[in-house]
Amino acid sequence: MVALVASIVRTQHLIGILRDKRPWPSLRNLMAFLAIGYGVYLYAIVANIPMNKDLIAGEIFFLAALFMLLVVQYAYQTIHDILHLDELKQLANSDELTGLFSRRAILKRLEDEFQKAGRFGFSMSVAMIDIDHFKAVNDTYTHVAGDEVLREVAKVLQKRLRKFDVLGRVGGDEFLCVLPGTGDVGAMTTAERIRERVTELRFEIVAADNLRVLKNGEETDKETFTTTVSIGVATMHSGIENTTELVRASDVALYAAKDAGRNKVMLADVEDSAC
Ligand code: GH3
Ligand code: MG
Repeated sequence: MVALVASIVRTQHLIGILRDKRPWPSLRNLMAFLAIGYGVYLYAIVANIPMNKDLIAGEIFFLAALFMLLVVQYAYQTIHDILHLDELKQLANSDELTGLFSRRAILKRLEDEFQKAGRFGFSMSVAMIDIDHFKAVNDTYTHVAGDEVLREVAKVLQKRLRKFDVLGRVGGDEFLCVLPGTGDVGAMTTAERIRERVTELRFEIVAADNLRVLKNGEETDKETFTTTVSIGVATMHSGIENTTELVRASDVALYAAKDAGRNKVMLADVEDSAC
């Protein structure tokens, strides 16, 4: 009778553990339960208390096996949760449309690179890139086509960069490129290369809402259009104290590029960016 009540209590306890959303404390309780049971079992042997040893030993083995099973199951579940968290983190850090870094993630990387460059005395530049007359692309060829243009421009930017350069989408048609270890001359060369390559992109309108990028030199009877970008470049120097100032400097240069007729690269004026 005592054994029956004990096993019912144990069964309810085990069901509770299996339902528990926080498994590790339950496992700790189960382990304590096992230790106490084992202690009582030893005491009964030492004190020569009559009992059904085979039944109790069997129960202890059963609980121990169950304990191992739960440990394995919870470990598996924990790994799964960690991977899921990692996936969520990646999603939060990447821009859904282009797969580039999101605004938050690229600004964080900029901050890290800025600190590193300041500490070790490296040079560093940023390039703010904005598609010219992008609203007209949306208005003329639809928002879906506009999305396709954004994706293709993002691919071009990514291809033109070095392994340690970092690129993110900071706004609708605006991209920020962080160029660690790069001074103004190198940054201007990179930006010019990007600008040139974007002008070579040709989109064919296959059907409404459907664009195709034409290969180099490919001919077509269908309507086509091209796009351009304006780029503002700013380099870290003694007058720039933080990333906000560096980004502001590249923005000022970007507006200058727009004012100068678009499809241009402009370098931030050191004096302008210092004020
Ligand atoms: P500018 O040469 O001065 O840059 O002219 P613009 O027309 O490109 O002007 P602006 O950069 O201000 O326009 C950005 C447009 O981008 C406005 C908005 O409708 C569009 N946009 C923003 N986010 C998205 C998006 O995710 N997909 C698409 N297709 N369009 C977007
Ligand atoms: Mg634009």
